[in-house]
Amino acid sequence: TDSQNLPRVAVITGASSGIGAATARALHHDGYRVVLLARRLDRIEALAAELGNNALPIQADVTDRDALVAAARRVQDEFGGADVLVNNAGTMLLGPFSSEQRDDYRNMVEVNLLGAITATEVFLDQLKDGGGDLINISSVAGRTARATNGVYAATKWGVNGWSESLRQELLPDVRVTLIEPGVVDTELPTHITHEATRQAVQQGYDAATVKPGEIAEVIAFVLARPRHLAINEVLLRPANQL
Ligand code: NDP
Repeated sequence: TDSQNLPRVAVITGASSGIGAATARALHHDGYRVVLLARRLDRIEALAAELGNNALPIQADVTDRDALVAAARRVQDEFGGADVLVNNAGTMLLGPFSSEQRDDYRNMVEVNLLGAITATEVFLDQLKDGGGDLINISSVAGRTARATNGVYAATKWGVNGWSESLRQELLPDVRVTLIEPGVVDTELPTHITHEATRQAVQQGYDAATVKPGEIAEVIAFVLARPRHLAINEVLLRPANQL
């Protein structure tokens, strides 16, 4: 980006709720121009209105490469390109492994893994131009696996492996940071299609102590380090999570 005096530009996928919305707020507060990507246009328009200047909502499904390419063109035209990409869009469709959830499996791979990969290849030239940052939102499930979270964990383990490879490939032009949260109080469990699992997981989330803004603070901290320091990975859990 042509960043002589202009504030840095951060593109956040899944900015319509939870960790993505909180990250947009935190980075905007820190002086970034923020680009809000999600499918729910009403949500990102409302967030942009709340933030005021320097917030650009763009409707985009991360499984739709053409939509991401169009978004990247708008970011280039209106903001001069992206300095930061936060790959946050994701879905956690837990349940016992079964053919009944085969659509969920495809959906998680397409959003959590391929969506992040596609957004990154689409925005990579902009990130490389002038020293960028790539933040990949993985999960504790990117390091551990438990019964009934196999495909979700597979997507996050995939994000972890791909991120480490990219970290080596892109340094020092683009810093790559992996964020691995435990339970955070968001809408994430509400999309679970396996009813008994959804209810059980929701109970855990109803008692969630960590708020999305606390993850956003960590992301803002990582990004604020001087360019010679790269925080590669942050694993963070509620203090009472095993
Ligand atoms: P939310 O459900 O609140 O947010 C998910 C976001 O992803 C929404 O903004 C949603 O926007 C977006 N999204 C989903 N599908 C698509 C798609 N196809 N294209 C574009 N955007 C999409 O949950 P969280 O904030 O918790 O989740 C954010 C990330 O954090 C995920 O990657 C999740 O795996 C990860 N995470 C969350 C944890 C938690 O406990 N909450 C723990 C560890 C990791 P829209 O529907 O408008 O498109």
